[in-house]
Amino acid sequence: MAEAAAPAGYDLVIRNGRVIDGTGAPARLADVAVANGRIAALGDLARARAAREIDARGRIVAPGFIDAHTHDDGALLATPEMTAKVSQGVTTVIAGNCGVSLGPLDLAGRGLDGPPPPLDLLGETGLFRFPDFAGYLDTLDDAPAAVNAAFLVGHSTLRLGAMERLDRAADEGEIAAMRAALDAALAAGALGLSSGLFYDPAKAAPTEEVIALAARLAGSGAIYATHMRDEADDVIAALEETFAVGRAAGVPVVISHHKVQGVENFGRTRETLPLIERAARAQTVGLDVYPYIAASTVLTAGSAARAVRTVITWSRARPEFAGRDLDDVAAALGCSREEACDRLQPAGAVYFAMDEDDVRRVLSYPRAMIGSDGLPFDERPHPRLWGTFPRVLGHYAREVGLFSLEEAVRRMTGLPAATFGLSGRGVIAPGAAADLVLFDAETVIDRASFEEPTRAAAGIELVLVNGTPVWRDGAATGARPGRVLRRGAEGVA
Ligand code: ZN
Repeated sequence: MAEAAAPAGYDLVIRNGRVIDGTGAPARLADVAVANGRIAALGDLARARAAREIDARGRIVAPGFIDAHTHDDGALLATPEMTAKVSQGVTTVIAGNCGVSLGPLDLAGRGLDGPPPPLDLLGETGLFRFPDFAGYLDTLDDAPAAVNAAFLVGHSTLRLGAMERLDRAADEGEIAAMRAALDAALAAGALGLSSGLFYDPAKAAPTEEVIALAARLAGSGAIYATHMRDEADDVIAALEETFAVGRAAGVPVVISHHKVQGVENFGRTRETLPLIERAARAQTVGLDVYPYIAASTVLTAGSAARAVRTVITWSRARPEFAGRDLDDVAAALGCSREEACDRLQPAGAVYFAMDEDDVRRVLSYPRAMIGSDGLPFDERPHPRLWGTFPRVLGHYAREVGLFSLEEAVRRMTGLPAATFGLSGRGVIAPGAAADLVLFDAETVIDRASFEEPTRAAAGIELVLVNGTPVWRDGAATGARPGRVLRRGAEGVA
């Protein structure tokens, strides 16, 4: 005998939460139902039945955060539980930034015994074993991480694969080889191209070389993201170069971790942001930012010279100096700061080189996405690796009042999803992926500091990736429901 139609049976209903949907719309009371890894219904679901129910009274229910700028390429394979990210409510990471991606590159096949800086930020030598980008994505399909991941192809990685020497412009043949490798990666589902023109492996690349590659992205929905040639005295010229690449290649550009560095440049976001806004009216321009006055990357004497203070994050030559101030290291070694930088190589550092007002100005800019730029293999990482998202929510939205909670969430969800073409992610709507975070707006805050850089945030109570809990009651669940998000595939525009 047929039963009368009953309310749909869901896998999970989250009841009574204040839903912030990722579009910037005001929070509203609503129940959220999940079935088969997707959001099945939204609204008053008092009569709905579900296998599991969660009472979210007094809590925010938001789309899982999209970390718009990461170097998680190797971490997804080496530490797939991704605790630094899921503990913040991050459910998707964009990797392959700053010109460096794991693939397509076979280090051993290139006769290199280790990744040259800054590729070494992505992890140990053994991780660089993917001459073909599709093979890297397939490997992640077979051994998924806790979070979803989408990937840019690094210009420096392409250069290493195609050129014998990196201290000059690529010639026609090398550009053709890089284009072929880029085309293959795009066909495999890469979101676009990244560059790191600031760094040694790409410094000698002229604008024309970048345009020749970026032009391959035109019309495909792929984007060009750049760690610009300069973020200090010559930041304006670097911005103009970035816009020129976007115009000449006909592609959207994303300015990575926008900032201005060096005491003499403090306040210059008053110049850069209007320039970005003007460009954005004529071409597609976005940017990402992390909420700290300190930067972090490989250790160089040049970067240390620009910083008010430099702290070592790791050193292959002298690991005992991780966490120490460069001035103390120089004193201990009885040498100059420059000499100390040499003796610690290869190494990484945190550089206190920004003005708080500039950081706030960039965070407040409506086109700014939130990206951690965290370095997951650093011995003593910059706290942005563990703290970025709760810091924006708890410190900059709640405590400082830079913007509303809804705006903070939009910069972490709907905006990056639209920028990177991750359709069906970054919003709470029926049919969207059930990437969700439950947090307490009153208590959410970063706890990672420069002194204790790997402390998990407070206030993030439950995190779901594709409907499966990855963070609950202050601990990673160990589940690995993450997916590789390929451009042009289901779930990606
Ligand atoms: Zn960078």
